[in-house]
Amino acid sequence: MTLAAPLRTETKPQDLGLRCIACDATLAPTLVYRCPDCGGILEVVRQKPESRGWLRADFVADDITLGEGGTPLRELRSDLLHAGFKGRLLVKDETRNPSGSFKDRLVAASLSRAIALGATGIVSASSGNAGAAAACYAANAGIPAIIVCPDATPRGKLAQIAAYGAGLEQVPGHYGNSFEHAKRLCAETGYANLTATYLNPYGVDALRLVGQELHEQMGRIVPDWIAIPTSSGPLVKGVFQGFMDRAGEVPRLIAAQSEGCAPIARAFKDGKIDVAGWENPNTIASGISDPLQAYPEEGSLTLSLVRASKGVAYAVGDERIREAMIDLARKAGLFCEPTAAASLAAARDLFMNGTIGSTDTVVCIVTGHGFKDFAAHEGVGHSIHRGSRPL
Ligand SMILES: *Cc1c(COP(=O)(O)O)cnc(C)c1O
Ligand SMILES: [Zn+2]
Repeated sequence: MTLAAPLRTETKPQDLGLRCIACDATLAPTLVYRCPDCGGILEVVRQKPESRGWLRADFVADDITLGEGGTPLRELRSDLLHAGFKGRLLVKDETRNPSGSFKDRLVAASLSRAIALGATGIVSASSGNAGAAAACYAANAGIPAIIVCPDATPRGKLAQIAAYGAGLEQVPGHYGNSFEHAKRLCAETGYANLTATYLNPYGVDALRLVGQELHEQMGRIVPDWIAIPTSSGPLVKGVFQGFMDRAGEVPRLIAAQSEGCAPIARAFKDGKIDVAGWENPNTIASGISDPLQAYPEEGSLTLSLVRASKGVAYAVGDERIREAMIDLARKAGLFCEPTAAASLAAARDLFMNGTIGSTDTVVCIVTGHGFKDFAAHEGVGHSIHRGSRPL
């Protein structure tokens, strides 16, 4: 399932104004992260694309891109979902991006815009992957990056950030503290904030490409389900918008969270419109451990998109995430971090509870590489098969 040649569209920087999703105010292209009138979440204003959309983030600068996106979609054996499942199971392998997660798509776009709008440096609050992506792209662009991570960030992600030469600051406690610290750093330095929540509208806009690519790679059909490891939810929005761009309809979206940090899944289960922050995030899935305490409205936006797609937000246990991660490595040769396997883990539970039908088509987005959290794999143990020789 290869992609057609990338398309360039004629979006010009002056077209890239912003719109507030809460009050509809519009703004000229600028480095601003919330609506100045009402504090609402901003998004990029776009013309509806021509029939096929764009298969490349059209405002990523040529000297910034590192070849992100265009990741493979691969069909797996259906019994990897469940022995009784007779439908199709596919994975969108986002581990294949330059720094090993889909955050590269977001950073390539937000950094291109930041530099075009005059930024001299960048800051990113990150549970690890967005920071690694920001550090990677800033290194190539030759501008300084300061990455702020929670103390408990997996060592593989921290080593990667340091390897790219970024400044690394670790902040005690959950991701929310890192988020606030990054905001302060931006105010002090004047650097652009590339934090990969809904904060940077240009980054979020680039994730539409995930939906557009999927539609193309599926042979322009809309699958029944797409399962997405979900923190605040820009990736959910990207898949939603990408399918709207190209197909005018959206698959049922599964926002997969961990039981140890599930603000969106909890609100879904309780039938609520408004997401409330989670109290004490505690999960092996570091990439989806944002409690959304300071900006629960981001979770509410994501939840509204899940509902509009007739999908579900679902919290899966860490043990199920671990099993799915191990199975992806051992039965599909796909080495991913725990967070990335939350999509398959959630889809498995939702098949078993009857939500996913036995002949449905299910796409799981696998969001981050196994090297990023190798400790999660270290306890798994070796399987010594009969043919192996003693060393
Ligand atoms: C950031 C991240 C997510 C969550 O993405 P959101 O768009 O913030 O919901 C999922 N998986 C991995 C590996 C991530 O790094
Ligand atoms: Zn507003």
